[in-house]
Parts: sequence; C-alpha cells; structure tokens
Amino acid sequence: MEQYDVIILGGGAAGLSAGLYTTRAMLSTLVLESVGYGGQVLVTDIIENYPGFPEGVKGPALSILMEEQTRKFGAVMKFEEVISIEQIGEPIKLVNTSEAIYQARTIIIATGGSHRKLQVPGEEEFAGKGVSYCAVCDGNFFRNQKVIVIGGGDAALDEGTYLTGLVEQVTIIHRRDELRASKILQQRAFANPKIDFMWSHVVEEFEGNGILESVKLRNLKTSELFSIPTAGAFIYIGFDSNSAFLNGQVPVDEFGHIYANGQMETSLPGIYACGDIRVASDKQLGGAVGDGITAALASYRYLTELDT
Ligand SMILES: Cc1cc2nc3c(=O)[nH]c(=O)nc-3n(C[C@H](O)[C@H](O)[C@H](O)COP(=O)(O)OP(=O)(O)OC[C@H]3O[C@@H](n4cnc5c(N)ncnc54)[C@H](O)[C@@H]3O)c2cc1C
Repeated sequence: MEQYDVIILGGGAAGLSAGLYTTRAMLSTLVLESVGYGGQVLVTDIIENYPGFPEGVKGPALSILMEEQTRKFGAVMKFEEVISIEQIGEPIKLVNTSEAIYQARTIIIATGGSHRKLQVPGEEEFAGKGVSYCAVCDGNFFRNQKVIVIGGGDAALDEGTYLTGLVEQVTIIHRRDELRASKILQQRAFANPKIDFMWSHVVEEFEGNGILESVKLRNLKTSELFSIPTAGAFIYIGFDSNSAFLNGQVPVDEFGHIYANGQMETSLPGIYACGDIRVASDKQLGGAVGDGITAALASYRYLTELDT
C-alpha cells in the first residue's frame, strides 16, 4: 500500500495550494482529484479579483499554472474519486478511492462543492455571460445596470444588498411569498430603495443572443408567463458541499460544510479542512488558496511534533 505524509482530497485551488506547501516542506504528498485540477476555477471564464492579475486571468489557464506548480515540487497527483476515509489510530489513516487504498499520516480535505443550478433552459448557455452564482466575483461587470437575484435565503439577500453598491436596481425573485433569510437581512433589504421583490415567481428560461438579455418568469399564483429585461441574473438557491463521502466521520453543519478552526483543524487529530468545504468560508479563490496554505502548515507542524 502506498504511504504518504499527507493525502489531499480534492485538486481545486485549496488542495493544489496545500500541495504546493506540503511538498516544499518535504512532506510526501498525494493529491486525489476526481474531475479536473482547478475545480471551480477550471469552469470560470475570467477572474478579476485574484491578486497579481490586473487584467484578470482565465480560469482554465490559472488552473493549469496551479497544477504545474504543485506537480513541479513533487506532489503525486492521481485522478481518482475518494470514496471514504478511515482513522486506524493516531496518526494512521486510510483513504479509499475508486482505484486503491492509500495510507496517510495526515489528511487535508479540500473537496469544495458547487452552486446549485436552477436547471432551466439557457442557464448553462449564459453562465458567465450574464448568469452568475457570485455577486462578489461578477457584480462589477454590471455597474449601473439592472440585475435580478433568484432566491430567498441569507445568501440571496446578503449578495443582493452587496450588489446595490454597484448596480442601478436589484429585483429579488422568490418562489414563495415570504423569505427564509434571517430577520436582520430582511429588514436591511426591505429598507434598501435599490431592492424590489417579485414574490411567487420562478424563472422558466434565460434568454438572449450571445449574452443574457432577459428572463422568462412564471407567476405561480396566476400561471402567467412573461419576460423582463435584465443584464445579469445571480442565482442563490444553495451550495452543495462535497462531503457526503465522509459519512459523518468528520463533523459538518446542516449544509455539509466541515467545522474547522483558524488552523483548518477539524476535531479529528491530523485531519484538516480548507477552502469552500469549510464552515464560514467566503467562497472566494483567494480565501481557498489561503486556507490551503494554512492547512498545509498546520499539517507540517503536527507531523514535526510527532517525529520529535
Ligand atoms: C463560475 C464560478 C465563478 C467564480 N468566480 C470567482 C471569482 O471571480 N473570484 C473568486 O475569488 N472566486 C470565484 N469563484 C469561487 C472560487 O472559484 C472558489 O471559491 C474556489 O475555487 C474554491 O476552491 P476549493 O479548492 O475550495 O474547491 P473546488 O474548486 O470546489 O475544488 C474541489 C475539488 O475537489 C474535487 N473533489 C470533490 N469531491 C471529490 C472526491 N470525493 N474525490 C476526489 N476529488 C473530489 C472536485 O472535483 C474539485 O476539483 C467562482 C466560482 C465559480 C463556480
């Protein structure tokens, strides 16, 4: 059985950053990735808020650079899906994948997640061309224009309020006639003159010609179908964390995010969680990179203490 000091689950920005630091600290490192190195970065057209790229950087190009840099310092990288982990005794852990079983002294979980999709026509076609899942990432593209936000929870109101600092008007479209969001966020949104609401409406289709131009809505009370023009549509209907494979072994919140402290330590010794999978993550690329680095250094310190 192959044995490593560190096994990193997930080869997105957090996992690759962690791998860069563990290999440079001379820890033998395996990165396991099931879909594609870069994770969410790989499916992002242009990133404008990652430091060092004043003109922005294309997600696929950045993913290749991150992968190359981690590989260059000696990380073993394999395309395998992690099925489960087992704690055999401190510090021995096993990682079971679709192909093999590996032994680790520390595990860094960086399996991220994905924004839930509406799964209506046009959503995929206009993703990155008007349809977005991140106001902090893409709000700037819609300065002084009218946008819509879809959802009724904390994220929809929080990001909708953020957008009012940039855009002319935010219309929040919600399928119910009351919000799930916390009362304080509701009060703020109701008091904001740049926010209006369309209750009991759902999006049926995103429409446009090359870029998003309008959304087709259905009034759930009357079944009426109609279109409204919009430059941008921000979808906040949930985030699916990739933590089901942990099978409850590592404590998670109601959304599957893993609890970890400022050192990225979970409650299990030698097991760390970083990036979007972590409770309270800001779900930003820079944050995921920082988390990965912190997890790697915490893992290094843990192993150094064990060995001295
Ligand atoms: C369309 C889009 C645009 C964005 N734009 C911006 C932006 O402009 N600026 C910004 O700062 N942020 C942006 N973000 C957010 C940013 O990309 C993420 O916060 C960050 O990349 C998260 O990195 P991560 O490594 O934590 O998770 P992820 O990128 O989700 O990586 C997790 C990896 O783990 C793998 N994995 C999952 N489960 C398993 C398993 N069981 N076995 C093996 N591998 C597994 C996945 O395949 C994935 O590659 C955007 C996100 C999206 C989707």
